[in-house]
Amino acid sequence: MKIRIFGTRGKIEPKAEDHVNHTGFLLDDRILIDIGEPEYMKYRPEAVVFTHFHPDHAFFVPEKQKFTPKIPLFGPEAHELIPELKVINGEFRIGEYSFTPIPVIHALKLKSLGYIIQKGQKKIFITGDVAWIEKANLAEIPKLDLVITEASFINKGGRINRKKDRIFGHTGVPNLIRLLSPHTQKIAFCHYGEWFFENAPEKSKAKIKSLEDDVQLIPAHDGMELEI
Ligand SMILES: [Zn+2]
Ligand SMILES: [Zn+2]
Repeated sequence: MKIRIFGTRGKIEPKAEDHVNHTGFLLDDRILIDIGEPEYMKYRPEAVVFTHFHPDHAFFVPEKQKFTPKIPLFGPEAHELIPELKVINGEFRIGEYSFTPIPVIHALKLKSLGYIIQKGQKKIFITGDVAWIEKANLAEIPKLDLVITEASFINKGGRINRKKDRIFGHTGVPNLIRLLSPHTQKIAFCHYGEWFFENAPEKSKAKIKSLEDDVQLIPAHDGMELEI
């Protein structure tokens, strides 16, 4: 499976060379996961799968444009701008790819899903934005060839907001490493937050690499291609 990471910038103002675009992943030039920039449609994906409907994952949300390409569209909940959206309610397939949705805690008012995507023997997990993933939701998952997650905050704990008994926001990179390391040998990071742009990108990537232990950590850049 070939995974192209189109964008590595979170929903923030600062940007840097090779870290300009918002989220989008293209699998084998065929399936798009999230569409943070309209240009991603140029690759003529066969289907689009959304992790959640924040604007940096669904570019058409702020302008209230309808999103109506004539291809299958999948997402965690109905959306007024996507009349043809198929709401995910369990495992589903797109051609030879099987998608297993994993509930992710992230936003107060939006549902979020990560996806384990399997093609043949190869399995990846794209988490989307993460405040937390209940360990029970990861307990049964098979060993993954690659996990792609976010890096909004480099500090332990990230930035978590609380309302009554609910949490939302983004956890920290160290927490994600601990949470995801039991399931894979490789974790790629994108969706960088402000911290990343306070120094030269090379320095910030080195900071991620400095957290590496048994599991390989891959700080991504816009347009990076990974093959598993
Ligand atoms: Zn988000
Ligand atoms: Zn985001």
